[in-house]
This record gives sequence, C-alpha cells and structure tokens, in this order.
Amino acid sequence: MQQKMTFQPKTLALAEREIEGAIAIAEMPRLKTALAKDCGQLCFVIAGKKNGDELVIELVMDGEVVVFCGRCLEHLTIPLRYTGRFLVVQNAAKAEEDDLVNDYLESEETMNIHDWLEDEAILNLPFSAFHAECKIMGISSRNHVTYSSIE
Ligand SMILES: [Zn+2]
Repeated sequence: MQQKMTFQPKTLALAEREIEGAIAIAEMPRLKTALAKDCGQLCFVIAGKKNGDELVIELVMDGEVVVFCGRCLEHLTIPLRYTGRFLVVQNAAKAEEDDLVNDYLESEETMNIHDWLEDEAILNLPFSAFHAECKIMGISSRNHVTYSSIE
C-alpha cells in the first residue's frame, strides 16, 4: 500500500523537523518509463531548517536505478543521488520575478512527497549512461560499472 505522505514547507521548516522514508521505484510510474527495470527504492530525508530569517527545506535522495547502457543497450545499474536546498517562499511567482537563483517551495503548499521525489528523480537522471567497459564490445568486463553523463 502506497502512503500519500505530505508536508507543508513552512510548517516543517519552522518546526525544524525531518521526514525520512523510502519509496519503491515500482511505485513511480513516470520515472519507470525512463528505466530498464523497476527494482529498488529511493531513500530520502527531507529536513526543515531555520536559517536566520530564511526557512529552507533540504532534500537528500539516494538510491540505485537500472537503465539501458547508451552504447550496448544492456542493463546498467547507476546511483541516483541528489542533494538539494529549497528556499521556502510566500509566493513562487514573485520569487521568479525577483529572479532568485535558489530552488524554492511555496510556504503554504501541500507537498506530496511521492510526486515531488519522482519529479526530482526524473530531473536528476543522467541524460545518457554507459558501462565503463561494455561486454558486447568484446572487452572483458570487471564487475565494475561507472557512468558518465553528457552535459
Ligand atoms: Zn554497455
């Protein structure tokens, strides 16, 4: 059963609370379409912080996903790690106008953790990933994979 966990950025930041958990990749339909397999899970910590007058939400996400190698098209397991810092703002439209460089969350918005993490996971997937050495190319593959992304 999938829990619909939510939080409100302002409340979490003011309380300086943390939410920890894990979401199965099989429960992320939009992310799944970019993957070769839907095994594994994404662990996360969402931490509210007060920083002087600023309220911030920090997100740490960590997991592994299986994608297709961009060279040999075989499966390739890559880490999916992301650390982000989001400024809690009254009004996102105003923040955009003021051209804040930070990422931000609206203070009163009800954030669906599942949907938010899925968005961040999709945004942070490498555009393309490759085995360090592809088996199919006739190069002996040690049990070692790395990945690189094309900017
Ligand atoms: Zn490969």
